[in-house]
Amino acid sequence: MNGINRQIRLAARPSGLPDDSCWSHTEEPIPSPGPGEILVKIRYLSVDPAMRGWMRDRPSYVPPVEVGAVMRALTVGDVVASNNEAFPVGSSVAGVQGVQEYALSDGTDVWAADTALAPLPAWLNTLGIAGLTAYCGLVEVGKPEAGETVLVSGAAGSVGVHVGQIAKILGCRVVGIAGGPAKCAYLDELGFDGAIDYKSENLYAAIGRECPDGVDVFFDNVGGETLDAALAHINLNARVVICGAISQYNTTDIEGPKNYLALLIQRARMEGFIYFDYSGQWPSMLEKLAAWSAEGRLGSRDDIVPGGVEMFPEALLRLFSGDNFGKLMIEVG
Ligand code: NAP
Repeated sequence: MNGINRQIRLAARPSGLPDDSCWSHTEEPIPSPGPGEILVKIRYLSVDPAMRGWMRDRPSYVPPVEVGAVMRALTVGDVVASNNEAFPVGSSVAGVQGVQEYALSDGTDVWAADTALAPLPAWLNTLGIAGLTAYCGLVEVGKPEAGETVLVSGAAGSVGVHVGQIAKILGCRVVGIAGGPAKCAYLDELGFDGAIDYKSENLYAAIGRECPDGVDVFFDNVGGETLDAALAHINLNARVVICGAISQYNTTDIEGPKNYLALLIQRARMEGFIYFDYSGQWPSMLEKLAAWSAEGRLGSRDDIVPGGVEMFPEALLRLFSGDNFGKLMIEVG
């Protein structure tokens, strides 16, 4: 196929928020698939807080993105040329194909995104990283019981809204922490039992007010002071699920939990997880997520930035300012 493949590459590692100097915009000819390969035209790419971690040169759950490499990103797209029977031309796939317009795959690092079941953006949202992360962290790590109180931070974000809605489906009382009145009103609309605006309220007092019987499961997306405030309210045998710590991603001076002795006093458990450790269970999880979504019990807004891969540097920053409202992704032109 003739044409140009536009890409965003990591040009330098950031200190603090990643500015324009971290990125280079490159163009290459669209590659041709070799034997067994497919060529994917990327339609949407996922913008995720974890990308900030992938830019750091330090040991993590995946290797860092090398300086000069195309930035790693989850993607969904259409197969436009194929030498692989499993992925014919016209089918759609999800994968980790990077911030670019086209990518090759040998079929081992992509999976079918059935657009008869849900439109492509859903495969980055409820049927993708957002829904699966919420399910893995809440159900497999948090193990909530009906009647228990689940508190979630980053609650109006793509993972957070799924956590709250799944916890409601499981019969829990759910309280969310989010930034600003619009996001808190959204939590009310979704059926959360309580919403705390951390930007205008004292978190310690507000958690006490909204969780009068204490917190049985705390699903943390934020870390720092939010984690400390939640630890001050955990119940006996509580589960603290460490999903993320977005308040700490742009600093090297990471704030640890001052209130960790609450874990001792309450004989509680704090456990981190990465959603792809549960990939063997994704098919059965996806069945549940798709069914709840079809029943109208589970959903999340898509926050789609138009304008193609060039929008990536600016879009990434929206996660850290809280300007995204829903699952942030870029429509690749
Ligand atoms: P998101 O919540 O849709 O977007 C990020 C949100 O974080 C912002 O909208 C903002 O919401 C909030 N935020 C940003 N800076 C903050 C700060 N300093 N203090 C408090 N809140 C802040 O993002 P997401 O994709 O759903 O990810 C949520 C979390 O899940 C992240 O920590 C991410 O790393 C983690 N995650 C983990 C896994 C895993 O496998 N463990 C997988 C996916 C994602 P407000 O406007 O409410 O402040």
